Amino acid sequence: MGVPPTRPADRAPARPGIPPTRPADRALSRPRRRLPAALAALAALLAVGAGVLVDLATPAPRPADAPADAFSAERAYQNVKVIAARPHVAGSAANDQVREHVVGVLRGLGLETEVQDTVAPEAGQLSGAAGGATLARVRNVVARLPGTDPTGRVFLVAHYDSVQSGPGGNDDAAGTSTVLEVARALAAGPRPRNDVVLVLTDAEEACLCGAAGFAADHPLAADGGVVLNLEARGSTGPVIMFETSRNNAKLVEAFGRAAPHPVGTSFAVEIYRALPNDTDFTAFLDRRFVGLNSAYIDGGAVYHTPLDVPAAMDRGSLQMHGDNALGLAREFGRTDLRDLGSDHDDTYFPVPGGLVRYPGWLTLPLTLVALLAVGALGWLLRRRGRATAGRLAAGAGLALVPVVAAPLGAWLLWTAVTTVRPGYAELLDPYRPVWYRLAVVALAAAILFTWYALTRRWAGPAALAFGGLVWLALFGVLLAVLVPGGAYLTTLPALAGAVAGLAALATRRDGPWPVLAVTLAGAVAVVILLPTVVLLFPALGMGMGGVAALFAVLLGLAALPVVDLLHPQAGGQRGLGALRARRLGALPAGAAALAAVVLAGVGLAVDRFDAAHPVPTHLMYALDAGTGTARWLSHEDDPQPWTDGFVGGKADVSDDFPGLGDGELRAGPAPAASLPAPALELLSDTRSGDQRVLRVRVVPQRPGVRLLSLHVDTSTATVRSATVAGRDVPVKARDGRWGFGVVFHAPPVEGVEVTLTLAPKAGQVNLRAMDASDGLGGLPGFRARPADVGVVGSHSSEMLAVARTYPL
Ligand SMILES: [Zn+2]
Repeated sequence: MGVPPTRPADRAPARPGIPPTRPADRALSRPRRRLPAALAALAALLAVGAGVLVDLATPAPRPADAPADAFSAERAYQNVKVIAARPHVAGSAANDQVREHVVGVLRGLGLETEVQDTVAPEAGQLSGAAGGATLARVRNVVARLPGTDPTGRVFLVAHYDSVQSGPGGNDDAAGTSTVLEVARALAAGPRPRNDVVLVLTDAEEACLCGAAGFAADHPLAADGGVVLNLEARGSTGPVIMFETSRNNAKLVEAFGRAAPHPVGTSFAVEIYRALPNDTDFTAFLDRRFVGLNSAYIDGGAVYHTPLDVPAAMDRGSLQMHGDNALGLAREFGRTDLRDLGSDHDDTYFPVPGGLVRYPGWLTLPLTLVALLAVGALGWLLRRRGRATAGRLAAGAGLALVPVVAAPLGAWLLWTAVTTVRPGYAELLDPYRPVWYRLAVVALAAAILFTWYALTRRWAGPAALAFGGLVWLALFGVLLAVLVPGGAYLTTLPALAGAVAGLAALATRRDGPWPVLAVTLAGAVAVVILLPTVVLLFPALGMGMGGVAALFAVLLGLAALPVVDLLHPQAGGQRGLGALRARRLGALPAGAAALAAVVLAGVGLAVDRFDAAHPVPTHLMYALDAGTGTARWLSHEDDPQPWTDGFVGGKADVSDDFPGLGDGELRAGPAPAASLPAPALELLSDTRSGDQRVLRVRVVPQRPGVRLLSLHVDTSTATVRSATVAGRDVPVKARDGRWGFGVVFHAPPVEGVEVTLTLAPKAGQVNLRAMDASDGLGGLPGFRARPADVGVVGSHSSEMLAVARTYPL
């Protein structure tokens, strides 16, 4: 690229309505030394991007001999190893041992510690699947560090139980060990002003029942307070403060001030509210607590699987959890908790070195200002003769093309990858996702660059830059209406781009200022949108990589005037010169497309399934002890070869095993094991008028039963009310023959008493009892997995269910 000749075009008086005569006049900036300007702008944006990535990196884990008042990941990790030595699902003997360890650690710190042993209903909308009500016997560990002059209580919360399918090294031995290490650091220092209560909950995985039982029934919970909930949904990555209570302004202010690594965005809060996920935090929100919910979420391939072992943990993530939790515990331990109320949510997002936040009520005014600024830019571009009205309109229309094409391309790319490697279907994210993520970003870049190379010459750089800003501003309006906490993502880059454009028009086009202005606007877009792209990949998984691609392309559109510098000066050339210019313009597009293909190929080559990274499979066994028939069941849509050896076509099993929930599963015949169904003991049966009251006890007959269910055939009786283990439960109807049911997790060996008040429709009432344990190893016909075949992280993986109908 040579140094283009300068033109005196800028100094010619512009007349409104007169279209420009030369395509060369259609850019926002036209530096005299184009190549150095392009390289400088690009280097600046890369440096800002690097700063953003460094800011998101986890801190180095602190050693075991770190000062006593500091959080040490190495000290915390010693507890992780004990807690996550093996799977410890609620109700299991392994979980009893974990609880004893946790109690021992807290008592060793000299804290008042007790175990809340109760029966609690679920929180949130988790179950529903099995219909009716869900409860659990829970044993929460609760310890208190009394404050000197309390204005309220701060609750540090994590769950100590794991899923049945894995030891929970990250989920949530990380949170539990963080709470223990924070408690140690707090106890080692001066006592805080407010009470600090440590709550290690039980049965989070089953039904959030531990947290629900604490929030509803524990005396320390009676007056509410501030909850800091600690979770993990992966094994690495930055800790993200992803959920808050409503009207969070004061809480977010404290978070920005007191968390040493404040990574959090109001966009995540809104995304999370829309997803069908729940944590213990939900149970506290149901009871009008306020607070913050934090988790690290990258490395999702191990989530809930046997691979979620302590060694899989990134101790930098553990350090980040602890630094933030300790900083926040101290902050809320000292502030006046009566003063945390607010009447609005904040918009907030991370920037290198801190957290930007502003009141949510600024969202709508800001979107309007951004729209007006983009409008003003369009008006001035036309007035200055940089673009005609027609070209501005065309620029806006054309800019929609990459916005649509990039997510579509990402979806097609992932479809192609999963066609080559179908095992990805059951994974939240591949084991080594980074290559695929980079491939999606490269693909988005290739689409943007190709589109730009094709349209630039005709529409002109200024009109296309304007078009990109139009969509950013319009997305801002859309987000402001649908997810206000995310409106900043496109509103602020649109505003910065429009202001930069206006500034560029106010100065000499061939001077340094236009380049500086568009580079600054590009930097704003990088700071705001790059963390979003980086964090959306682990948050949503590769299956929804299109969302990250969308934000990547929006980032590209916001930085379009900088992208333009990479191209030869628009227009001006004729003949061979024009041809060469077009070839050069196609260079970035070609390079990005090649990178996308190569990166996807590297991903496929590097991320193969092997013994350390097994392909996940799902299998259950369900026995009808009444008929003596059994089935293998799998929720895999397109079964892996190993699973294929057990199951065939889809079947609806909700009539036989209502406790497994609705929906079709793959099913295949299995040899019947001689295992007993739970017994149903009739304690009393009273009839008065049209009413019949049945009091029964459901008693597991096998060791290791994780859950029990009891369903009523509603063609034989209508359920008017029900009591389970002394608790009234809501009578919710479910579809199908078994129109009412209860599920009880972690049942005691002596069984669970259920009282049903019925309006009989027939002479006898049919009840169906089911229980479930974990592990298929000893079953007839079971063939062990080869080394490179693993277990899906799911609440029903390796479940063994036995059911029977009892007519009464
Ligand atoms: Zn979990």
